[in-house]
Amino acid sequence: MSAVVAPIDHIAVAERRGAHNYHPLPVVVASGEGAWVTDVDGRRYLDCLAAYSALNLGHSHPRLIAAAHEQLDRLTLVSRAFHHDRMAGFLAGLADLVGPLVRAEGPGGTGEAMVLPMNTGAEAVESAIKIARKYAHDVRGIEVPEIVVADSNFHGRTTTIVSFSTDPDARDGFGPFTPGFVVVPYGDAEALAEALTERTAAVLLEPIQGEAGVVTPPEGYLARVRELTAERGVLFIADEIQSGLARTGTTLAIEHDGVRPDLVTLGKALGGGVVPVSAVVGSSEVLGVLTPGTHGSTFGGNPLATAVATEVVDMLADGSWQERSRVAGERLHAGLHALVGHGLTAVRGRGLWAGLDVDPAIGPARLVAERLMERGILAKDTHTRTLRLAPPLVITDAEIDWLLEQLRESLAA
Ligand code: PLP
Repeated sequence: MSAVVAPIDHIAVAERRGAHNYHPLPVVVASGEGAWVTDVDGRRYLDCLAAYSALNLGHSHPRLIAAAHEQLDRLTLVSRAFHHDRMAGFLAGLADLVGPLVRAEGPGGTGEAMVLPMNTGAEAVESAIKIARKYAHDVRGIEVPEIVVADSNFHGRTTTIVSFSTDPDARDGFGPFTPGFVVVPYGDAEALAEALTERTAAVLLEPIQGEAGVVTPPEGYLARVRELTAERGVLFIADEIQSGLARTGTTLAIEHDGVRPDLVTLGKALGGGVVPVSAVVGSSEVLGVLTPGTHGSTFGGNPLATAVATEVVDMLADGSWQERSRVAGERLHAGLHALVGHGLTAVRGRGLWAGLDVDPAIGPARLVAERLMERGILAKDTHTRTLRLAPPLVITDAEIDWLLEQLRESLAA
């Protein structure tokens, strides 16, 4: 006789036993494939968040899952105390993909890009901050360097990173804060110019501010930031953790502005939605300030992570994912713009990435996310009024049209 086991109330357990640092939609996902997930009751949903762009290549991509399985059976971790046979392919592949998009020339460099492998996005940003400070100290002789950042930024959750957040939820109560950051308005090149001093080591920006609501900067802003920083020997760090790796129709979002930063931080999609993988990419001159013992990570660049990330990088090498994002993004944005004045007050973004401002008369964006969930679509609100769409890049034209139809009905409901 088999015992009757009561089904687990996943949401109740999560609320009772899990820290309340998230407010998830009431759905319990059990499996995923491509652009779709299935919940514990067998209901299917079109995933229009894609784990904040970590699933750019879709759920359970067969090539990534095969790479992970193969590696799991062979070798998962050695630490950086020894070399392993998956590292070289990853480093060379990522340097080839992103190296040409960063400023690799420099007096002390070889003209080639280098890669620092880490795990999470916040770690990549922390690493970039450390590299920029060390470069300022060792190469430019700056004793107390400063880093200029933008308001409404989101670069992660560590103590140092929240020190320069302007979001009270992210920052308040977590002090004392790390000094050495100057905040300027996003998109205002003149304010940034005024903030640059003899002590400025770097400017750290998101080429499109994701968590702020997919905010795109004014035309010419990033190019002007590049000019201002290059003139002064200040490093330009582009945080492409959410915007990078084909999300906006190009490998990096900053390519749209014809700008090559000194350092790029990558994360999320680099791990193919399988494992956390992040990296800093920059010139050998700048990354060369790191020497043995100055920085590290037990898991950074581990065999499992690099096996998967090497496949991700290889899949992005011929530009077809970027092209798909660009073309599908045009379809999505055309449909979204038609909803401005019909429940939306503004639409921003690029490629398959959009921030939609919901008309306050309808209610908060969370309400629209809940209505979409009832219709089989998962999306996420940010900052009360904005709904964010970032579907996996495998979404089809028919699915985009269906999403637009469900959105139109949810806004009209
Ligand atoms: N930087 C940007 C631009 C991000 O959007 C995020 C996460 O949303 C991070 C950094 C932090 O990444 P992680 O959550 O992997 O630490």
